[in-house]
Amino acid sequence: MGSEAAPNRLRIFFFPYMAAGHMIPMLDMAKLFAGRRVASTIIITPSNTALVTSTIRRANSNSISLLCLPLPSPVHTGLPDGWDSSASIGHLDFQTVHHAIALLRRPLHHLLADHQPDCLISDMFLPWTADVAHELGIPRLIFHGMGFFSLCVLHHLEHYRPQDNVSSDDEPFIVPGPVEMTRSQLPAPLKSNTDFNRLLERMHEAEAKSYGVVVNSCYEMEPQYAEHYTKIIGKKAWCVGPVSLCSESGTHKVERVGERVSVDHGGCLAWLDSKKPESVLYVCFGSLIQFTAAQLREIALGLEASGRAFVWVVSAEGTEAVSEGLQERSEGRGMIIRGWAPQVLILNHEAVGGFLTHCGWNSVLEGVSAGVPMVTWPIFSDQPFNEKLVVDVLEIGVRVGARIAGEEGDQEVVVKSEKIERAVDWVMGSGEEADRRRTRARRLGEVARRAVGEGGSSCKDMGRLMEELMLAPERVRE
Ligand code: UDP
Repeated sequence: MGSEAAPNRLRIFFFPYMAAGHMIPMLDMAKLFAGRRVASTIIITPSNTALVTSTIRRANSNSISLLCLPLPSPVHTGLPDGWDSSASIGHLDFQTVHHAIALLRRPLHHLLADHQPDCLISDMFLPWTADVAHELGIPRLIFHGMGFFSLCVLHHLEHYRPQDNVSSDDEPFIVPGPVEMTRSQLPAPLKSNTDFNRLLERMHEAEAKSYGVVVNSCYEMEPQYAEHYTKIIGKKAWCVGPVSLCSESGTHKVERVGERVSVDHGGCLAWLDSKKPESVLYVCFGSLIQFTAAQLREIALGLEASGRAFVWVVSAEGTEAVSEGLQERSEGRGMIIRGWAPQVLILNHEAVGGFLTHCGWNSVLEGVSAGVPMVTWPIFSDQPFNEKLVVDVLEIGVRVGARIAGEEGDQEVVVKSEKIERAVDWVMGSGEEADRRRTRARRLGEVARRAVGEGGSSCKDMGRLMEELMLAPERVRE
């Protein structure tokens, strides 16, 4: 699949990491740029070709094209067939996958040398792409897939290590915000040295060689952190989100690149249509999290006890634990989607009044854009930082009170149904506090939508980036 770019037309290549939470926003971004007449090209690997092709087809744009890199031989990767598919990659050993992806260096070099795009936007998990772009004099922009708040907190924790100066996992320390955190809320690599720390080092080296950063956020949502971040990295950061708002069309919202939806969306919408406005809680933990049967049972009990209507997305593996009568007992009140849900479509339905989320950055932004308050349940990675932003900074969420998974060997700490029921009640219930939270969430949704609309801050930032790449290629390529 390909589209010829007219001369003088800006050509941007996008190279996402293959996990759904990374591919989805990168594709949305490619669509946003294509909507501004940029010739957008997405670099993918074989297992994602079909999904990405259908996503592009739905975008109905002849400004987006696809280039596929050949995979290294299984002899060199030790990985099973299809390891690069967005549905599989997050469940495989991280180090093995990174070793395999780095073998794409030579094919990428050939591809970029042949096409000479004006810019490469590549994922933070592909640090070696900075070297390739540098060798060819092509400006590379990093896409972290995180918000400014998380980027600032991460920088602070890595550089100043306040977490090393506390005597217990529950003693608080301050991170920029200022916001209090404890060691128990940090992802494992920030508490002890793991293989992931070496990747972090590589990412920082690559940052130095990159021209700047594109961030999926909007300035108004985290202004002080946007400014602080550009100061600490000493590079330009363009704020172009929330990119999930790239298309208001229904089809786009139904099927995003991660998977095929596992539910008839017409039936799902009809079910939501039968509910009162803001009465339904949407529950989803992203594309990677797999809870134990014990935890799934507690969620089922908590949702049942809450007495609220809900749509709960359960990964295909977890279906047995929740089927013990919940579907029957909550007949008419609960809808269980086994597999992949049309998340953006559901969140934007007027019946949805709350979102129980694992705080993946895409989910947070999609919740913000839909104007719904959240119950926060972070598990790993930047999710605890996103929870801080949602609960303490933006004040549009209530935490369920989960303990973050620690180093390997840690016992899983099950969040009990009572905690879940209480947090759901705070978010979905009545009372001044809940009303104020709802109003703030609604206003923030309007702010986010304005940002990507004509003349909005993210729309203007995109324009500035395009101008810079267009008008000053020599400076950019230095
Ligand atoms: N998603 C979806 N349907 C699902 C589960 C996830 O559409 O059933 C999408 C969701 O809308 C978001 C992405 O998958 O765009 C998940 O990204 P996020 O950063 O929230 O979490 P991750 O999966 O990376 O942990």
